[in-house]
Amino acid sequence: MSLNQPRAFKGSEEIRFMTNRERPSKLEKKQLRRLANLGLSNFESIDKTQGRQNDFLKLLKGTRVDTTGFEDCDAVSCGQKRCADGCPFGMRRRRLDEIRATHDLMTGIDGPIYDIQVARRCWARPVGKLREMSIGAVIKSIRRALDKLNNPGIVAVGAIKLSRRVQPSDGSSDVWLWQPFIRLVVAGADRHDLERALLTERGGEKLFQVNKVKNLGRTISNALRRDVYASKQPWFDQLSTTKAEKREFYEWSLRWGERIIRYGCDRYFNRLKKHPRPIRPKFPKKRPYPTWLVPHMFGGAKWENNPPHSMTFEPKNKNVRIVDPPPDYYKR
Ligand SMILES: [Zn+2]
Repeated sequence: MSLNQPRAFKGSEEIRFMTNRERPSKLEKKQLRRLANLGLSNFESIDKTQGRQNDFLKLLKGTRVDTTGFEDCDAVSCGQKRCADGCPFGMRRRRLDEIRATHDLMTGIDGPIYDIQVARRCWARPVGKLREMSIGAVIKSIRRALDKLNNPGIVAVGAIKLSRRVQPSDGSSDVWLWQPFIRLVVAGADRHDLERALLTERGGEKLFQVNKVKNLGRTISNALRRDVYASKQPWFDQLSTTKAEKREFYEWSLRWGERIIRYGCDRYFNRLKKHPRPIRPKFPKKRPYPTWLVPHMFGGAKWENNPPHSMTFEPKNKNVRIVDPPPDYYKR
């Protein structure tokens, strides 16, 4: 057998003798077949991720970020000891696992599944100041909204995303902004309850959408995407991303650990057993009537309708000096 002939191995031997060039394509086919079973036919190809990885390395070259490890990242493994959320290959690998785990989790829950998108104007930061954005505040605000429903059956999985630079479409501001938004796949909740919980109390901002899921695999895949892309939200005008903005996004995504949101499940996507919070009725607190102030109240015993600046005012404190005005005082 000459060396130039294609090798034909079978079974487990196959993987061991595959060259690095062969391995991703084989692996990719297997992964894509699995996703096709979930109804997801257009998952990001390895070539496309490679393009994003090259872009990522090119833009971060010359910045303070050390990219040496990321040069060895590929579809199977990572060059870094601990891969970051911003590494395109790492993100693809993790998303593949997350999609399957989330699909298994969601299909085990009765009732309709909803796809929600939420944005708040207060989360936005001007272009160039993305590092000031607080991921923790965004996660807390959505958890608080879901906690309001007090329904232990709710399970939600999604991610915090960043849409391309936007401007409010009502013309209220001319600053270009990074607008973070959340996309979540929610099971076990009623549509009306979700809409009520997402409406903010004070401003009544309606920057959210609740849609019924038609293709679960595709919705989960889109919900877990964490790269910067154009959102289809009607609330903002948006432009395409420039190189400087992409660089800012990459630096920011390396800074933050995880941007995934899990509610009602643990980090391995196992459902949590929760009990509803006890509801205690609230009564207004009773306060004592201020009986000690009654003599000082209008018409009371100690009530004096005598302002301290008037001429006839007599202080109780004897040390206060009172000047008796001479008769010609007002004529001077
Ligand atoms: Zn990586």
